[in-house]
Amino acid sequence: MSGRQYPASADVVIVGSGPTGAAYARILSERAPAASIVMFEVGPTVSDPPGAHVKNIADRAERTRAQAASEGPGQRGEKVVSPGAANVGARGARPGTFLLEEGFAFDGEDGLPVVAMSSNVGGMAAHWTGACPRPNESERITFLPDLDELLDEGDRLLGVTTDAFDAAPFGEIVRERLSAAVDEGRTAETTVQRMPLAVHRRDDGRLVWSGSDVVLGEVTRQNPRFSLVDESLVTSVITRDGKAAGVVVKDLRSGEQHEVSARFVVVAADALRTPQLLWASGIRPAALGRYLNDQAQVVYASRLRDVAPLVPVESGAPVTGLAEYSGVSWVPFTDAVPFHGQIMQLDASPIALAEDDPVVPGSIVGLGLFCAKDLQADDRVEFDDEHVDGYGMPAPRIHYTLTAHDHEVIERARAEISRLAEAVGDPVGDRPFTLPLGSSLHYQGTTRMGTVDDGTSVCDIDSQVWGVPGLFVAGNGVIPTPTACNPTLTSVALAVRGARAIAASLA
Ligand SMILES: Cc1cc2nc3c(=O)[nH]c(=O)nc-3n(C[C@H](O)[C@H](O)[C@H](O)COP(=O)(O)OP(=O)(O)OC[C@H]3O[C@@H](n4cnc5c(N)ncnc54)[C@H](O)[C@@H]3O)c2cc1C
Repeated sequence: MSGRQYPASADVVIVGSGPTGAAYARILSERAPAASIVMFEVGPTVSDPPGAHVKNIADRAERTRAQAASEGPGQRGEKVVSPGAANVGARGARPGTFLLEEGFAFDGEDGLPVVAMSSNVGGMAAHWTGACPRPNESERITFLPDLDELLDEGDRLLGVTTDAFDAAPFGEIVRERLSAAVDEGRTAETTVQRMPLAVHRRDDGRLVWSGSDVVLGEVTRQNPRFSLVDESLVTSVITRDGKAAGVVVKDLRSGEQHEVSARFVVVAADALRTPQLLWASGIRPAALGRYLNDQAQVVYASRLRDVAPLVPVESGAPVTGLAEYSGVSWVPFTDAVPFHGQIMQLDASPIALAEDDPVVPGSIVGLGLFCAKDLQADDRVEFDDEHVDGYGMPAPRIHYTLTAHDHEVIERARAEISRLAEAVGDPVGDRPFTLPLGSSLHYQGTTRMGTVDDGTSVCDIDSQVWGVPGLFVAGNGVIPTPTACNPTLTSVALAVRGARAIAASLA
């Protein structure tokens, strides 16, 4: 069977079409328009423009198809009891994502039972919530002097706004009540505020969620020297004389293999599959896959007290989308109160807690607190050369354990979320839930950045892999600090720095 035409060479090959790979393509299109760029994505194109958020797809059946097409090569939502983590029980993946089928936990360790990925043009950002908070205090990468300017660029690329839900009638009420409980002693950066979100409202009132399409922007789509090839699995990075020299890529439609030479290779294949590709290519720095960290997550629901119904409950008036009533509010992380809080409407439809107790639509809010991990080099993803994953790549094996400090922080988070739930209304249920590890979808550290090649980092501050000139890594795996806040804005900011370095070398 004859496959598609693949280019023999490019100046820059980008592996992965999520927002961090897209950030490289965008900055290179802006700063080095003469450079040829090829982006390979293992998953299919599921939205239009390519990389667009599936929530923007109006037709429900079409949206469901797009989510299912993103869920990778294996089964999903299966009941698997994790070895060594007896309380894991049934595992479920969020729409648009898929779980590791095995190797997610080992005896005597906690593992990451619901660690998840997405395989589609746009990556996880075709399915994400779009929360783009900035890191605070110990979440910040102190050795990057230009961090704030890079975060500003990240906002620009992701189309971050703070006013899309200003008309939400309960938003201010939620924030006022949270502020009263939280703000004392905090700085302007860390008081309760609107969550910065990668979303904008069209003139006709419809919300448009940003995906990689927004990051790529017209400048990349119009760039005649940029191409995006979907359903293409990069199986190894080629090195010559110790430098990045190209990739081997398999056309999943035909099964044909191609070699594409390149001056620069950027691997932006998520926090599990970026180290996987380096491993498969024989590039194995000591820190590869290590310092893996996920944000343990505690959730609770609360019913807003004393809010008047905006529409009669019995009218069944259609509610048009998530968070339309209460927006998304942010309780920033601080070192003293080490949780990142995201508070948003839980259920848009009128529900009844009891038959004679109809709930004001939009008055149930969900509270989530994310915890920063106590970093350990031993928390890691390893790769098994004897076994393969659904794509035929070395199978990931997760070794992950919460420390005593992590357990303490989670207990504090449970107490804090109960306090916040009571501050905004009446808690629903008698206690908060601690979600299974991996639920955050924010995995970091596996290709972390550092200032010196001392075995505790994989790349330098431009995201170039130590000892392999021309090879760059991108994604949440590059973040060296244990953040509690949603990491995508930060990893897009780090990608901007790396892309500028490549653009400068190409000039
Ligand atoms: C439901 C949900 C809600 C979320 N909410 C938020 C939020 O509010 N805020 C936030 O900051 N983050 C959120 N996230 C996480 C966010 O989506 C990710 O942080 C972000 O997408 C990471 O970007 P990335 O480019 O590094 O990787 P990804 O978006 O994961 O993209 C990596 C891409 O690489 C491809 N790939 C992998 N291996 C190969 C290979 N060998 N060859 C070719 N292609 C390959 C994958 O198929 C994938 O498409 C959420 C995620 C989900 C699923």
